[in-house]
Amino acid sequence: MIDNELMEILACPACKGPVELQEEWIVCQECGLRYPIRDGIPIMLVEEAKQAETDGGEPDSGD
Ligand SMILES: [Zn+2]
Repeated sequence: MIDNELMEILACPACKGPVELQEEWIVCQECGLRYPIRDGIPIMLVEEAKQAETDGGEPDSGD
């Protein structure tokens, strides 16, 4: 698994924003791009990222 310490040093390569672990994805909290995790390794590449899908939730739910 990805531990919190690793999450602390990760940043979104697109906007340098903070990222958050969400199940199988690293999700940027700034721009909403989602980066895949393969074999436990976050693929922090813009070209591998996907735009956040609208899952019925709000893309930017404040605090
Ligand atoms: Zn971002």
